[in-house]
Amino acid sequence: MTLIKYDYDVIVVGLGPAGSVASGVLSRKGYTVLGLEKKSHPRHKTCGGCLSARIVPWLEFDLSQVAENVIYGSKIYFRDRCGVERRSSTPIAYTVKRENFDLKLIDQTRLHGTVVQENEQVTGINQEADKVRVHTTKGQYTARYVIGADGATGAVARSIGIRPARRLYRAIENEFVLPQEQTAVWRDTVVIHLGLAERGYGWVFPRGAMLTTGLAALGRSEVKLKSNLLYLNQTHQFGNGQFHGHLYGDVIPCFDGRRKRLSSGRVLLAGDAAGLVEPFIGEGIYYAVRSGHLAASVTAGALQNGSNQLTRYDDLIRRELFNEFRWALYTARVAYFNQQKTFDLIVAHPGVVNIFYQILQGIGKYDQLAGLGWHHLLKKWI
Ligand SMILES: Cc1cc2nc3c(=O)[nH]c(=O)nc-3n(C[C@H](O)[C@H](O)[C@H](O)COP(=O)(O)OP(=O)(O)OC[C@H]3O[C@@H](n4cnc5c(N)ncnc54)[C@H](O)[C@@H]3O)c2cc1C
Repeated sequence: MTLIKYDYDVIVVGLGPAGSVASGVLSRKGYTVLGLEKKSHPRHKTCGGCLSARIVPWLEFDLSQVAENVIYGSKIYFRDRCGVERRSSTPIAYTVKRENFDLKLIDQTRLHGTVVQENEQVTGINQEADKVRVHTTKGQYTARYVIGADGATGAVARSIGIRPARRLYRAIENEFVLPQEQTAVWRDTVVIHLGLAERGYGWVFPRGAMLTTGLAALGRSEVKLKSNLLYLNQTHQFGNGQFHGHLYGDVIPCFDGRRKRLSSGRVLLAGDAAGLVEPFIGEGIYYAVRSGHLAASVTAGALQNGSNQLTRYDDLIRRELFNEFRWALYTARVAYFNQQKTFDLIVAHPGVVNIFYQILQGIGKYDQLAGLGWHHLLKKWI
């Protein structure tokens, strides 16, 4: 019998939420794991940092250690007009600084025994008969399996010929220190703006002493995004026709309705690398964490039975996430098509907001909205 030689059981490329969770779970099970990260944590990640409350049971640590704000309610605007304000008696979301949240996740992973190499970028991978070879800016390694969790523009998806998501939101974000007298006003409420982003929306999220405002749209014009974000800021009297603090831009790779592959041979993709972002509100962190767990579970199974395929992962993702994403995509298409009408609908039926709170709390699911009949209501209006 020939002995197969490899450096690690699993190499995880990219240590954002998806990669840190996947590598932590596998290390905890006793497998040898190398985590490769091109940057060094704590690192900046352009992100609103708003986590739906349903993420809590999927985290190994107490979220209150890094949560900046606990969110109980929202206000919904159409341009500069506030139409609805709803509160919940239990948290619907938490806001975090991604630097702190991601650092906490990577610390957990290290504790479980993952070998973490930062400032090392993966440049490509090659699949061999019994292992995968990973090339980096510093050298090369081999592993029995590779998890690509290297974000929206990752190298692993390209290396295995998986095309990126077609539904790519362009997003910009303005992050600044909140004037002292306003911190109490913004403590536990988020604002959602309709009418400012083409097939998307705008937001105001509090993060401790900071505030982030942003817009995500499917349109291509960056100039329009910037001028509409200025308009949003002025609506809340942040700044005087000028951005203040930092202005960042990035893309959000949302589920686009295709039944695409997420694995090839001994390699699979998780989180943004797989386009696993919910297409209505653009929530990606929860799904990065969920897919990190699923990726680890399938890879652990393959390590046990010696399989050279990870197709079970594709089946699990389709079953657990795609059904929900399909309904979210339907909702996005209808709700963002005529945002004035959508806003009028919400004003007339504010209870619809509570259904979304239930989704964020993990009590409801998008596919259950069908049963509640609100998409028929939307259809009637639009
Ligand atoms: C403006 C904006 C606002 C957003 N707001 C929210 C929000 O409020 N709530 C929410 O849930 N989601 C939000 N998202 C989406 C969310 O940020 C992502 O879905 C989430 O970060 C995905 O996690 P991930 O682990 O898959 O990827 P990432 O967090 O992108 O992590 C990927 C990691 O891989 C590393 N990497 C990349 N390439 C390589 C390489 N070649 N070699 C080694 N390492 C590599 C990167 O440095 C990075 O650390 C927002 C996105 C944007 C752009």
